[in-house]
Amino acid sequence: MSADLKTTEYWTALARSLRPDTGLFIDGAFVDAADGRRFETINPADDSVLATVARGGAIDIDRAVASARRAFRTAPWARIAPRARMAVLYRFADLIEAHAEAFAVLDAQDMGKPIAEMLTIDVPGSLACFRFMAEAADKITGMTTATGEDALHYILRQPLGVVGCIVPWNYPLMMAAWKIAPALAAGNAVVLKPAEQSPLSALLLGRLFVEAGGPPGILNVVPGYGEEAGQALARHMDVDKIAFTGSGEVGGLMMVYAGQSNLKHVSTECGGKSPHVIMADVEDLEAAVNTAVAGIYGNQGEVCSAGSRILVERAILGDVVEAFTARTRATVRIGNPLDPATTLGPLVTRSHQKRVLSYIDIGRDEGARLAFGGAVPAGHNSGAWVEPTLFADVGNGMRIAREEIFGPVGAVIGFDGPDEALRIANDTVYGLAAGVWTRDLGKAHRFAAGVECGMVWVNGYMNGDMTQPWGGWKQTGNGRDKCFDAIVAHTQTKSVWVTLG
Ligand code: NAD
Repeated sequence: MSADLKTTEYWTALARSLRPDTGLFIDGAFVDAADGRRFETINPADDSVLATVARGGAIDIDRAVASARRAFRTAPWARIAPRARMAVLYRFADLIEAHAEAFAVLDAQDMGKPIAEMLTIDVPGSLACFRFMAEAADKITGMTTATGEDALHYILRQPLGVVGCIVPWNYPLMMAAWKIAPALAAGNAVVLKPAEQSPLSALLLGRLFVEAGGPPGILNVVPGYGEEAGQALARHMDVDKIAFTGSGEVGGLMMVYAGQSNLKHVSTECGGKSPHVIMADVEDLEAAVNTAVAGIYGNQGEVCSAGSRILVERAILGDVVEAFTARTRATVRIGNPLDPATTLGPLVTRSHQKRVLSYIDIGRDEGARLAFGGAVPAGHNSGAWVEPTLFADVGNGMRIAREEIFGPVGAVIGFDGPDEALRIANDTVYGLAAGVWTRDLGKAHRFAAGVECGMVWVNGYMNGDMTQPWGGWKQTGNGRDKCFDAIVAHTQTKSVWVTLG
């Protein structure tokens, strides 16, 4: 899909004309919450109310799970030829593509992401995921094993049943795609709980799935708060798996809830504090710096894999901070998310803005040097805005180097030599991603082998496609999105031992 970025006027007119779905999507239809409650979803660019949405609670989760279980048992979804399931998922992807502009506007307004990012990253990335998982549907295989001649033993690989998908707000459409596409392709029924900050695109997904020929009940979408709808889903006795993306704190709760309920499978994709390492022997310093700028300010820094710790070899430290500052000034453009020229929108909510600004205070108090930024941008008092910010002279022991800020705040940390780079890179509880820039292949491979995380980029950052297992080590969690493993993780084996007469 090639993106036509169009004009602010075009997107503003489209935003005005959209009438987003705001019910709970259960059993193939939009319904109110059982107790009739609703909540507001706010446009963080100007604090206006974007929509009021049905607020799912425990009773609604019961309804959605019952619908999913019924559909799993009675609709042919799990038992039809996988190519028939594939055909529905391809039609689903085609419908998402046909509604690409609506998805782009919904998420841009719901969480503040620039429309250009929606059109060039989120929408194409989500389509790639649906199509990859659709194509994978008939590639799931069982096996036979070696036995004596008096037996035949084969292993079936079958869907788990009902999968609860709980997703965050930073890539509303794409995180939903990464969770529901493999679950559906493997033949499961799904209950999706979008983040309360960004429920609208998920509801459109629900509607389009049924329009594509998906059986009612196979994909249910229940917006609501984490401690209400989310907890009810994760504790539910009839849910077979929770596929979770979000904070480490809530990821930990998923495991507790599973232990306190029915021992359901749990996959977790949580936070990061990823090191982006620039060695002094880097071949193309300009490319490294430009990539580091994009690696921390893309999506307002609200990215699990953001290169938030920028590790720079001391011999080039001054040059990098200078070039980084110049590149940010030249290319980062704060503004209306519906303006195609905007590269930095508001943060997702006022409370998140407060949290990010408090980390900037912490950085100052800890003695880091503020290279630029650090405030609410001038003229942006309504909405949840924070300037792109860079701290230099950061020690890896400081809280701004240890805790996930999840905003446009980079921390530059100096090092001497590859051993120290690796030691600092690994001195974190997280383990999602790392990048390293060097012309020395030996150094690059040794770093890649030694760094404790799930994804490493050499002379690049955030590159990848659907073949890449996306997920982390350590407290980033145990899940893997994208890749073929993601579909296999939504199946279970069944051993069939046949005694031959
Ligand atoms: P969050 O943990 O606050 O919320 C995530 C989801 O969990 C939301 O739908 C929320 O409603 C729900 N939730 C909250 N409390 C719950 C509870 N008690 N029981 C059940 N559900 C509950 O995270 P967030 O602020 O929405 O997202 C930001 C986090 O997500 C960051 O830490 C980021 O790194 C992480 N993230 C990770 C990846 C990855 O691939 N590793 C990708 C994107 C985001």
